[in-house]
Amino acid sequence: GSVIGILGGGQLGRMLATAGAELGFDIHVYDPAPDSPAGRIAARAYCAPWDDAGAVGSFAAKCDAVTYEFENVPLAAVETAASAAPLRPGTRSLALTQDRVTEKTFIREAGAGTADFAAVASLDELKAALQTICAPAILKTRRFGYDGKGQAVIRSEADLDAAWDAVGGQPSILEAMVNFTRELSVVAGRGLDGTMAVYPLGENRHAGGILRETIAPAVVDAATQAEAERIARALGEGMDHVGVFAVELFDLGGGKLLVNEIAPRVHNTGHWTMDACACGQFEQHMRAVAGWPLGRPSAHSQAVMTNLIGHDVDAWETLAGESDARLHLYGKRETRDGRKMGHVTRLGPPVKPVA
Ligand code: ATP
Ligand code: MG
Ligand code: MG
Repeated sequence: GSVIGILGGGQLGRMLATAGAELGFDIHVYDPAPDSPAGRIAARAYCAPWDDAGAVGSFAAKCDAVTYEFENVPLAAVETAASAAPLRPGTRSLALTQDRVTEKTFIREAGAGTADFAAVASLDELKAALQTICAPAILKTRRFGYDGKGQAVIRSEADLDAAWDAVGGQPSILEAMVNFTRELSVVAGRGLDGTMAVYPLGENRHAGGILRETIAPAVVDAATQAEAERIARALGEGMDHVGVFAVELFDLGGGKLLVNEIAPRVHNTGHWTMDACACGQFEQHMRAVAGWPLGRPSAHSQAVMTNLIGHDVDAWETLAGESDARLHLYGKRETRDGRKMGHVTRLGPPVKPVA
């Protein structure tokens, strides 16, 4: 059997490993933390720092293909892996999405809209940028942010100093606050031959910068669905991506969408697909990484996916007893506030198949 390596051992790696095992692959996982959620269920787990090039190289040398479960894996580690085994997606997808300024510049060049933005490297530059971007605005670190961490809202000039402190004085991006009607996302898979499989849109609800709920397939008009697909195809091709990726969208109404960010990987807003689509995002990603044909992305049921964040997970026993709920627990050893511990997908009525 083929060996597929996953860089990163969190919940995304774990669900990828499970899907990969169902397709018959041996899954090897690399993560600096011992006992990671994915490492514990892998055929083989490697535990060494990201900057241990020898360890990354010998991990990748055992693999027929290597992928990554999140975009903050250091580029150097990914490049080391890529020199020992086919890396899917390639380093281009990572390089374009690790930095919010590079990412938004790429999105615009690919023909999709974003919020107005400016790169800022000092408090003076931030003050100057607020003159053109205008309040309300959001300041975000260029790199390493997730779940709304490393962000501050600026409502007026009085917030500038506190916002600069909140990002720790790191190189940042100032973005205009978008007045959206709702948040949507489109998840898509792209095969080795460039074929794409685009999932139905999901509608996402966030609280405190963290995804709480995805309702899917979202109720959208034909123009919005078509525009989301156009954007997904343009970005997937522009990244020359192989595997699953997700595009977070702000719905402005009337078929107008802005891109918030791209995740070059399976995504929390695509978790519903594993229970409600013919081929879920985790299987889809492993198919693409292995060079297999893609599976059908169509939904067979309505779904509401709810994240279990922090102590939400304490209700797992009740959830396990709900007949139409599909419960997924990530096996994290410690429950912490704000930490994604699992999710539950409640299936609704069947969706009429599209021709
Ligand atoms: P993750 O990667 O976990 O999705 P993140 O830390 O990269 O999160 P963003 O997705 O950029 O953060 O922002 C988190 C949420 O904050 C968004 O889903 C949206 O609700 C809100 N938000 C971010 N940027 C803007 C913006 N320019 N205008 C309005 N709301 C925004
Ligand atoms: Mg993000
Ligand atoms: Mg986001």
